[in-house]
Amino acid sequence: MTASLAHAVPTIPLLINGEFVESRTTHWRDVVNPATQQVLARVPMATPDEVAAAIASAQAAFKTWKKTPIGARARVFLKYQQLIRENMKSLAATLTAEQGKTLADAEGDVFRGLEVVEHAANIGSLQMGERAHNVAGGVDTYTLLQPLGVCAGITPFNFPAMIPLWMFPMAIATGNTFVLKPSEQDPMVTMELVRLALQAGIPAGVLNVVHGGEDVVNALCDHPDIKAVSFVGSTKVGTHVYHRASASGKRVQCMMGAKNHAIVLPDAHKEQTLNALAGASFGAAGQRCMAVSVAILVGEARGWVPELVAKARTLKVGAGDAAGTDVGPVISCAARERVEGLIERGIAEGARLELDGRKPALDGVLREGNFVGPTIFSGVKPGMSIYEQEIFGPVLCIAEAETMDEAIAMINANPNGNGTAIFTQSGAAARKFEEEIDVGQVGINVPIPVPVPLFSFTGSRASKLGDLGPYGKQVIMFYTQTKTITARWFDDDVSTGVNTTISLK
Ligand code: NAD
Repeated sequence: MTASLAHAVPTIPLLINGEFVESRTTHWRDVVNPATQQVLARVPMATPDEVAAAIASAQAAFKTWKKTPIGARARVFLKYQQLIRENMKSLAATLTAEQGKTLADAEGDVFRGLEVVEHAANIGSLQMGERAHNVAGGVDTYTLLQPLGVCAGITPFNFPAMIPLWMFPMAIATGNTFVLKPSEQDPMVTMELVRLALQAGIPAGVLNVVHGGEDVVNALCDHPDIKAVSFVGSTKVGTHVYHRASASGKRVQCMMGAKNHAIVLPDAHKEQTLNALAGASFGAAGQRCMAVSVAILVGEARGWVPELVAKARTLKVGAGDAAGTDVGPVISCAARERVEGLIERGIAEGARLELDGRKPALDGVLREGNFVGPTIFSGVKPGMSIYEQEIFGPVLCIAEAETMDEAIAMINANPNGNGTAIFTQSGAAARKFEEEIDVGQVGINVPIPVPVPLFSFTGSRASKLGDLGPYGKQVIMFYTQTKTITARWFDDDVSTGVNTTISLK
């Protein structure tokens, strides 16, 4: 960006100790509308001192926040959910401008996060300990689920509303304080949500935000005052974060990359299945961690490719804020080049290009955008680059199997285990699938089975590191430390004498 333009573009502040402050860094990057390349804002790469100040403010706020009554904490999130609802349209507009997904899908992104906020307003009963009377004569044992202290969250670009809301509401509602590091590619809607959180009554220091990339993430992983790190993003970065933060003694949960397969059995409801596949493969331009990126057609379903291609052809590529758009741009020029490069490799490695979405026809300023239209390959096999890599674009790979057993074996042999689905009208086949498949989220005639917050998000194998998933019951255990109290209250003056054994009497 030229120096004169730089002044016209707003800067994104840090949030430290309840104040939105301008970073003193000399390193900034542009936040760009991926449909038009318009520069929307500049985001700072925070300095080490700023990261330290955010952590210190969270550490100081923890002293009082951890003792704030459960009901008072819950009421902040009751107010917060109302504010998010009231601001849904403007949140979605910001999200679409910086991320590219359609306005309706952007509202879905906010809504799936809002559901976690509603749960956070209501989690008192999940943070209760257990109690047993008379574990020995006159001795009782009970547990406390106490907050850990300062927790950190590192989030990806593809759900800039939902994923930050997976993290800080549950951490804060359970009595912790938080330092959030949003994606530097689209931090604007995250900051709008943070402003609303303060408006809802989150006190100074309880929620802090720093921006940046690798250096800031490493500083969060290393800092001794941070007790737990939640990460969502790619497998490469998540694996690094898991090892680095674990090495400094933190609790860590990393939800990572995917290659989600759907099995289509020949008895599936054809029209519903093809609609579901097209929506789940090309929605959000294929940039969902739960997007269907491989369809395994079994038996006679192998003949359904032309009808799937015909459906994909009808999807409209364009700006997310334009009426009728089905598929928006991918996040950056680099992402578009990567997706196009993988399409070329798919052709070179022998897959059949049934539908080519490269360089879709667009008018005016959109010609500058990062667009790739729906793309379908058939004849895809393990070993091909388009099968082995997470493409994270609107590209569906179609593979074939003779039997359902063969299809299950293929999915279980893939390193990723984030999401999967089966399309069938057979209860017995669905039951076998749910039992034998080694994947975290399993859909039965549901293409994108993201769990609602009464449950937790999970993942198998390379898609997840750490035992406990984000939101839901599991995250209560993640964000709290169990303390076990064993108590005896003497009710007379009779001495029982010195007991040198381990047994309680
Ligand atoms: P990413 O890994 O590039 O970035 C995630 C976060 O890590 C960002 O905040 C980024 O600033 C930071 N980061 C980037 N490079 C880093 C480095 N070298 N060292 C330390 N930190 C670094 O991921 P992304 O491209 O923003 O998101 C897409 C990925 O996230 C996909 O792989 C997708 O499958 C995955 N994802 C997974 C889930 C899930 O729940 N499993 C959900 C959403 C997205």
